[in-house]
Amino acid sequence: MNRSKNLEAMVEKPLDLLVIGGGITGAGIALDAAARGLRVGLVERWDFASGTSSKSSKLIHGGLRYLKQLQFKVTLEASREKALLQKLAPHLVRDTEFLFPLYGPLPVRAVVSAGLWIYDLAAGFPKGQIHKKLTPKDALAHLPGLAEERLRGAYVYHDARADDCRLVMHVVKKAADLGALVANRCAVRGFVYDAKRIAGINAFDELDERALTIAAKRVVNATGVWCDMVRAMEDEPVERVVRPSKGVHLVVPRRRVGNREAVILQSPRDGRVVFLIPWGDRTIIGTTDSDYAGDIDRPRAEREDVRYLLELVNEHLPKARLASRDVISTYAGLRPLLVDGSQVPSKASREHHIFESRSGLITITGGKLTTYRRMAREVVDRVAPHAGSSTHRIGLFAASEPPPGVPADMAEHLLRAYGSEAGDVVRRAGASRRLVEGLPYSEAEIEHAVEREMATTITDVLARRTRVLLFDSQRGCAVAERVGQRMARMLGWSGHETRLQVEAYEAEADGS
Ligand SMILES: Cc1cc2nc3c(=O)[nH]c(=O)nc-3n(C[C@H](O)[C@H](O)[C@H](O)COP(=O)(O)OP(=O)(O)OC[C@H]3O[C@@H](n4cnc5c(N)ncnc54)[C@H](O)[C@@H]3O)c2cc1C
Repeated sequence: MNRSKNLEAMVEKPLDLLVIGGGITGAGIALDAAARGLRVGLVERWDFASGTSSKSSKLIHGGLRYLKQLQFKVTLEASREKALLQKLAPHLVRDTEFLFPLYGPLPVRAVVSAGLWIYDLAAGFPKGQIHKKLTPKDALAHLPGLAEERLRGAYVYHDARADDCRLVMHVVKKAADLGALVANRCAVRGFVYDAKRIAGINAFDELDERALTIAAKRVVNATGVWCDMVRAMEDEPVERVVRPSKGVHLVVPRRRVGNREAVILQSPRDGRVVFLIPWGDRTIIGTTDSDYAGDIDRPRAEREDVRYLLELVNEHLPKARLASRDVISTYAGLRPLLVDGSQVPSKASREHHIFESRSGLITITGGKLTTYRRMAREVVDRVAPHAGSSTHRIGLFAASEPPPGVPADMAEHLLRAYGSEAGDVVRRAGASRRLVEGLPYSEAEIEHAVEREMATTITDVLARRTRVLLFDSQRGCAVAERVGQRMARMLGWSGHETRLQVEAYEAEADGS
């Protein structure tokens, strides 16, 4: 995870494969390729997981709602991957119980029941996790604030959740462990050709402000919603393949909603489903799904998005009376959906798609966090069909003992976020002071983020290595200065640079 050395090594000797984009898709491809012994490099324009991969609902799931759209293949693949990820990274991917309150008429309830049986079947009927039907009284015992009128009961079923940024970071680090050369803050700006075939990339190293040329036998464009912009850097004309769809989430205090487990609510108006996902003493509410024509670098939650989500929750939980003043933060992400002629984005296919241009640029788009391994395997099978085994046997980090002398909530967080590195995070920094009151993040994580996880800005540390921005953006502003001072010592920032960094974080927090 040494950025400068990795970039030098990429420039020095041609790669077998260069991956553009450090979201879950690019990270997964780099890991799969490195595991098969390829000389692989990955460059990310901003920070790892700074695109859609940090803006998800954080579910590792089969996608119950895709059954309604008859997307059986998506559900089947995703359910298998979910089960596998739970085994590979049990510290990170946590089993989660979901409550599905039932309001509709009998035929609608029958469809939900059938869907859940198919869901359990797709997951291989996991022991102790087959869905259960609850009476209205039991449903209310699970979630006391539920609207009682027309409540016909509820189902309880199982899925999983994971911190999306930590998942990406684990995959990036595992790839690096296996020899992948990875670098953030390095933007691809064009391609190098040899006899009309792509033979590498021209890039710009944003930190050292220098242009770089990296030679590679194959280049994969894994830039999600930006993939058409990268395709447009080719010499040949391209048609748009991605239709960005915006998804907004809100974070509110969990006590305001009162959910013990995750909850899935269906809008009586448009039939869309919205999740309430417990995260410590917060609840994440999301998501919307609407066509987006704005600046793809800066999707934001608009007032209308917030109102839609709050109204939907209030309809199901009238006593909660959630209002915009309850919202701690918001975030918006863009789904890289395929242009497929569907009327509304929620009906568009969630499958991934792989394209190859005449000059050999491979583009992968769509898919899900949950299915990144499968997507990666398909891409690497294509670029290096004789390269041996796939990611199937590549595990992530296993959990270890709780770090000694650390408060319980912080120890739990460290284990979940860092697995077997948890003790090391605390030992190396020699301190366990809390970063922000009320959240489990530790100051020790700053040093770890800079030295082991290529964090180069305050926002990297507060938004993605830890999730302070998400769960308490305003209090994060109060510690940004302190984080900046510590990073300045490690990275040699001047006072002016530190100030700019703090301001950049504050601007980010204001927008959330
Ligand atoms: C609201 C929402 C909720 C979701 N919820 C879930 C969920 O609960 N579970 C699930 O499984 N999936 C979920 N998804 C889907 C999942 O988040 C995405 O499929 C996935 O994160 C896409 O990852 P990616 O790597 O393809 O794209 P990204 O994460 O966007 O990564 C692309 C990267 O490419 C970089 N890049 C762009 N241009 C360049 C360039 N020129 N040079 C170098 N780098 C460049 C970008 O900076 C970016 O980091 C959700 C998606 C959304 C929008």
